[in-house]
Amino acid sequence: MANWFEQLERDLSSPLAVRRFGTGWFSGFFALLLAVSGLGMVIALRWPNWFTMPELAPLYQWSGLRPLVHLALLAAYALALLSLLLRPRKAIGTTALIIALLATLLGGAAVQPRETYDWGVFFGLDFFVVNMIASGLMFAPIERLFPRRADQRLFRQEWREDLFYYLLSSMLVQLITFLALAPSGFINGATGNFAAFRSAIASQPWILQFLEVVVLTDLVQYWFHRAFHRVPFLWGFHAVHHSAKSMDWLAGARMHFFEIIALRGVTSLPLLTFGFAPSVMQAYIAFVYIYSSLLHANLGGDLNILGRVVATPRFHHWHHAIEDVAVDKNFAIHLPILDRLFGTHHLPDGQWPTGYGVPEAVPRGYWAQFAYPFQRRRA
Ligand SMILES: [Zn+2]
Ligand SMILES: [Zn+2]
Repeated sequence: MANWFEQLERDLSSPLAVRRFGTGWFSGFFALLLAVSGLGMVIALRWPNWFTMPELAPLYQWSGLRPLVHLALLAAYALALLSLLLRPRKAIGTTALIIALLATLLGGAAVQPRETYDWGVFFGLDFFVVNMIASGLMFAPIERLFPRRADQRLFRQEWREDLFYYLLSSMLVQLITFLALAPSGFINGATGNFAAFRSAIASQPWILQFLEVVVLTDLVQYWFHRAFHRVPFLWGFHAVHHSAKSMDWLAGARMHFFEIIALRGVTSLPLLTFGFAPSVMQAYIAFVYIYSSLLHANLGGDLNILGRVVATPRFHHWHHAIEDVAVDKNFAIHLPILDRLFGTHHLPDGQWPTGYGVPEAVPRGYWAQFAYPFQRRRA
């Protein structure tokens, strides 16, 4: 089994020459992506109580979902066969074929829900699938079209750890949202006399509310982020995020579990208390998810003028830079003006960092990184 994974990884990360169009690499890659997504959706449809989120209910009521799953599995078969035909190495094609077969054996697109015991906890597997397809389909091609580092491989060092972070944070999105929102429910209950203020906020035009949410969240996020850099105990958690040595859309997912909960809790607290419309908040959560992948992406383009107004990949790449001049700079996520205001801005025109990471030795692997802040403190 381990050997199989090794072969698959070697095949997926083969050098460009054996990966170009016509070698069966792209067909294999997309076959794998579609097969995994199809399997995830079949599992979600079969055990809905365990693996789906109530927020995605409209998706399951949509009549086009099952035909789409069917099409995805068909395409996975076709592309896997194409890859097996074109490619001397068979690891990608065979794996995609096996996964698609497994999805079919579980019932395929016609799968009916199994009666399952309701644990009251679900893992948002469907959210992970939707998320992975959307982000993977969006970022993998644009990183190839406009790369910052053209030599960086799609499956670069430590990609598995980062994918695991991505999987876990998507799967636990429900729990994280609950833990993060718990304190604001209490606050709302205790501040009933601000009801008029809150309804005034909610009656503004949608787009205006959205922009206010962007500004407010980034202001809170700025100081939260700055504290995680400056307070030694908090830095132990945040060092995990900064331990990534290569930057791409997946690298942004690497964040300590406790930091994610604290970040979501602290940034959503003022928003919920102010009474913004729920649809604005939901839209913002989706937006910030995609935007933070974009900031970490392996995307070139100096964007000197645009970069003065909004955060660009280059702006956040400097935040991760190993250069001494860039230490504790660029804390904002959306608005660089916050860093100008508070004296932490660093974005030399047209220049990029020479490398990424932190001077200290953060261990590799999810669980070692989970324990790191506590061990670091003891040491
Ligand atoms: Zn940071
Ligand atoms: Zn970052």
